[in-house]
Amino acid sequence: MLRVLAYHRIDWRRELGLNTISPRRFRSHLHFLESAGLKEGSLWPPEPGVCFTFDDGYANFAEYAWPALQEYGWGAALFPVAAYIGKESRWDSTWPRARHLSWRQLRKLAEEGVEIGAHTMTHPFLTRLPPAEAREEIADSKKALEDGTGKAVRLFAYPYGDVSETVARLAEEAGFEAAYTMNPFAPSGAVDRFGLPRTGVYSIDGRRRFAAKAGTRGFRAWKRAARFNQFINRCSYANRLLPRLG
Ligand SMILES: [Zn+2]
Repeated sequence: MLRVLAYHRIDWRRELGLNTISPRRFRSHLHFLESAGLKEGSLWPPEPGVCFTFDDGYANFAEYAWPALQEYGWGAALFPVAAYIGKESRWDSTWPRARHLSWRQLRKLAEEGVEIGAHTMTHPFLTRLPPAEAREEIADSKKALEDGTGKAVRLFAYPYGDVSETVARLAEEAGFEAAYTMNPFAPSGAVDRFGLPRTGVYSIDGRRRFAAKAGTRGFRAWKRAARFNQFINRCSYANRLLPRLG
């Protein structure tokens, strides 16, 4: 079984939301995986194990997450918002804003083995855009990151996990090999490689729920944790839509 964990910010600064995990907590996750004897899987092509992914490309990844991952011998995939590289997170309603990784940092991380995937240019709800605009958001982010890092960008993550059949086909047409949702229950492996599952890890996850998400407490505990994630996703989805409705 491949368990793909999705993180956002690893930082000491608190946030009005659930997406920031303290560096201390993050290290406790790594320590837990090590002591449970869990091994790193492969994102693509999929191989069983656990994989770390980080959305949005915040600078705190280089500061806190990557050094800890390296220390414990884990890799990671990063999905930066391509139009905001080196800038503040003005696209994000999460407060406080955070700085994104610079091009220099991204290139260095790519050299050090971090897989750089794409996550659109400006982080829109892709299913709400006209297909032509969604296509640009997806394809331009691949090109920008490939030009900026000099490496092939194979993977894509849908902002907010927001995907439809049309959006999935746009990701395929843009030349990606696979794409990830935020849905823990999405079909895995070869069923549809443009709707692959991930499990978000949030600041309110205690030890037991993290263990369940990592898959060490059996299927039923995993399923409970995954259902809880769907609930969180729906709430944050609604929350992020509010400013747009107003
Ligand atoms: Zn995102």
